[in-house]
Amino acid sequence: MSAPRLEINLGKVRHNARTLVERLADRGISVTGITKATLGSPEIAGVLLQAGVSGLGDSRIENIEAMRRAGVLAPMTLIRSPMLSQVERVVTHVDISFNTELDVIRRLSSVARASGRTHGIVLMVELGDLREGIMPDDVEHTVCETLGLPNITFKGIGTNLACRSGVSPDARNMAELSALAGAIESTFGLTIEIVSGGNSANLPWALSGVETGRINDLRLGESILLGCEPLHRQPINGLHTDAITLVAEVIESKVKPTQPWGEIAQNAFREPPPSSDRGGISQTILAIGRQDIDPSGVQAPPGMEILGASSDHLIIDSGHERMNVGDEVTFQLNYSALVRTMTSPFVVKAVMPERRVPRVVVAG
Ligand SMILES: *Cc1c(COP(=O)(O)O)cnc(C)c1O
Repeated sequence: MSAPRLEINLGKVRHNARTLVERLADRGISVTGITKATLGSPEIAGVLLQAGVSGLGDSRIENIEAMRRAGVLAPMTLIRSPMLSQVERVVTHVDISFNTELDVIRRLSSVARASGRTHGIVLMVELGDLREGIMPDDVEHTVCETLGLPNITFKGIGTNLACRSGVSPDARNMAELSALAGAIESTFGLTIEIVSGGNSANLPWALSGVETGRINDLRLGESILLGCEPLHRQPINGLHTDAITLVAEVIESKVKPTQPWGEIAQNAFREPPPSSDRGGISQTILAIGRQDIDPSGVQAPPGMEILGASSDHLIIDSGHERMNVGDEVTFQLNYSALVRTMTSPFVVKAVMPERRVPRVVVAG
């Protein structure tokens, strides 16, 4: 098989998705499956839908268009505020978009009207992480304006925490979102359909057994694909953490000293040279580099250690294992490495043939 490649085990992705869908259903919460880290892969989209997600979401219109072209018919949400320059494409291919700017919502309305469509709006609320969101005091005004626009349906509210500043979803900020939903309903005499509480970082809160209030949707990407929650990067009980792995090929294997020699200046990426001298080690070079991966986000197999990376080379200490040219090494990835790797044209995306993965029954 060609390398480097991402090996995507659809059975494990399905197991992760189904497990989360079932656990959250017990809490009255449905799952929007987020496909952005898969570049809108139709195979993965299909698996998420089989696992029972209520719809799909992506931050990029290009990915949504790719899924539509491949025949994915599910409800589709654009989870990043549309660019004004892409509003036509959004109205054509997307059912609902997340919004924070009235200028964008007005443009969505006029384009939807011109093309005889209706477009759904979820208003994102700022609850402290300082990424996207309308300040809570301004939400009712924005709802009021949105309700007055033709060919626009106000679907609900949402928030996004943890991604920029690491603000944790908790009982307090989730209660604030619930209260806002209630206030909008009583002010405008309507029923809010979607209250989208956040992303994979909401899972510790959602599964802790606390009151989930009005929150009835979470948008999950990382936890489904990598089996981890992003706040503390801990594996989630009962999920596979190796549903997607990275395989790279050895192009050099030699015993070399740990310390470089000669006059030392900056390297290409302004990193200091290694500090400790451990004598001769099994230095192995893999044909993958910063163009393809975030080296700080990949994890070598037990007994091996990543020493450094340049644009095209990943250098590891292969420990007691003496590797041969042509051997392959399998790495675990975090989300940032996964996203980068998915977008590299040099990395093959290998969807592994399905083997029915036995259902694992785990408490909690
Ligand atoms: C990426 C993203 C998500 C999914 O986040 P995960 O941590 O991958 O679950 C949810 N909502 C928004 C707005 C996003 O940008």
